[in-house]
Amino acid sequence: MVQYGFFFDQSRCIGCRACAVACKDWNDLPEGPVKWLRIYEYEKGAFPNVRVHYHFIPCFHCENPICIDASSARGIYKEEKYGAVLIDPDKATKLRDAAAACLYGSIVFESDASDAKASKCTMCIDRLEEGLLPVCVAACPTRALDFGPLETLQRKYGTNRDLEDLPPSTLTKPSAIFKPHSPKKQLVSYDVNKALKLLAERGDLPSIYSTAEDVLNIPEGLLKRNKLVLKPNSVKDLQELTRDDNA
Ligand code: SF4
Ligand code: SF4
Ligand code: SF4
Repeated sequence: MVQYGFFFDQSRCIGCRACAVACKDWNDLPEGPVKWLRIYEYEKGAFPNVRVHYHFIPCFHCENPICIDASSARGIYKEEKYGAVLIDPDKATKLRDAAAACLYGSIVFESDASDAKASKCTMCIDRLEEGLLPVCVAACPTRALDFGPLETLQRKYGTNRDLEDLPPSTLTKPSAIFKPHSPKKQLVSYDVNKALKLLAERGDLPSIYSTAEDVLNIPEGLLKRNKLVLKPNSVKDLQELTRDDNA
């Protein structure tokens, strides 16, 4: 079997979600939480060292797919031609167990009901059979994505399978190569204290900040998306963590 996989260049991703919209469109997925591909966006740090992070999370069709090994799950299997991990809807049972095992939240449900139907990224195997790229890869306007045999991707992009805030790759061996975003650079020199003074100048408008500390130390809970949460507790949480849109 030749294992196929994704390349994600985090330094090129602008969080536009064209990939996620294309996935919904091509696969005829309903509005709401049935998101076979999730783009997570979250912010870390405090002024002046704030950083927005983006993660591209389909199913990574892992070389060690622990979802398949989940105790009582049935009807999820690894196919032989591309190494895609697929659900057979006629045989699928107990996929909540498979979803609990997956580190990436890649098995998704229509609702929180215990009998809700499970589904997941298919690697666009229908398109692969036509000689086409997965539609998410084809749709990316910044060329942050690539797809192909894992060995080819490794020759082109190296062997890194880890990204900041993702679970370590050692357990599941995701079929993906990652390029992390570049180190943050200060492009324009500025004086932090002067910037804080300017922020306080709002004419007749009331001041937003009373002291510099208000800006430099963000209170816990003020930012809604301040960390990567790959396994939301409910479909409502998933919607909020993925901007509650239909992508
Ligand atoms: S990403 Fe999750 S669902 Fe996909 S193969 Fe890996 S463990 Fe299974
Ligand atoms: S490979 Fe296809 S099914 Fe999987 S996330 Fe990309 S577009 Fe969706
Ligand atoms: S289409 Fe490309 S740039 Fe846009 S969110 Fe997806 S991976 Fe990132």
